[in-house]
Amino acid sequence: MSKVYEYVQDRIIRALEEAIENGGPAPWRKPWKGGMPKNYITKIPYQGINLLLLEGGSYLTFKQIQELQRKNPEVKLKKGSKSYKIYFWKPVERGEGEESEKDREKDRPNFIFRYYNVFHASDVDGIADDTADFINDPIESAERVVSAYKRECQINIKVGSDRAYYNPTLDSITVPSINQYENVTEYYSTVFHEMIHSTGHITRLKRFEDAPGQTIFGSESYSKEELVAEIGANMILSMLGIEDQNQQKNSVSYLHNWLCRIKEDRGLIISASQHAQKASDFILNFIEGEYIENDLKLTEAI
Ligand SMILES: [Zn+2]
Repeated sequence: MSKVYEYVQDRIIRALEEAIENGGPAPWRKPWKGGMPKNYITKIPYQGINLLLLEGGSYLTFKQIQELQRKNPEVKLKKGSKSYKIYFWKPVERGEGEESEKDREKDRPNFIFRYYNVFHASDVDGIADDTADFINDPIESAERVVSAYKRECQINIKVGSDRAYYNPTLDSITVPSINQYENVTEYYSTVFHEMIHSTGHITRLKRFEDAPGQTIFGSESYSKEELVAEIGANMILSMLGIEDQNQQKNSVSYLHNWLCRIKEDRGLIISASQHAQKASDFILNFIEGEYIENDLKLTEAI
């Protein structure tokens, strides 16, 4: 095991044991803000059923994209982008003659269910990120890891949402945008967490015991996969030398949540760490040679 991985595993076990001794760590807090689905131009949030059907973030109609394109030719809808439907009730205007006696009596409003198509802002090149609550500079080394993984694994990473998850059926990752985070390390922690999940896919490390999408939330294999993802994210951050104490504390709270469901177990952390290590190596291999410097620095510091 690489010295950095060993260090991360031991640090996590120590922090968990310490936290448990002291009555458990502080509750996990969601490290990002906002990102509810809304229109990019009008900023009006979508309502009703749309909230259940849409990812978070901003959306534009094709017409809105064309209008922006007229002002700035850099604006472009990415090839192969899929559209989403926005549903709404449209009042029906009737002519006098069409309105029946019954309708008039009941003063019944007449609406029909309609939809129009929109595109997610992350599928449009050349427009500014409007989900920003904070302003964060991307970390170059971390961005290199993300883009190499995207390129080599042909995986779609949708940025700008109110949620973070990996969809094993579609093999796609969704995360909030970098500027929804107060702490930039937490952003990369989220991205790496979801990337580690995606290494379990059948075309990569085949880690999922159940068929993709069949893993039951709260089951033992689900909990273990959460440990793998969270420990793996910490390993990548350490390899890049971009750890942060607040992120680490929150990470321990997150891990503790999953451990509670399957009893605190040191062995489980170690076995999850082994999978996490394989997954981190899988991801970091795509930038082989670029992170060795941090590895050495950390080794000396231990
Ligand atoms: Zn997860």
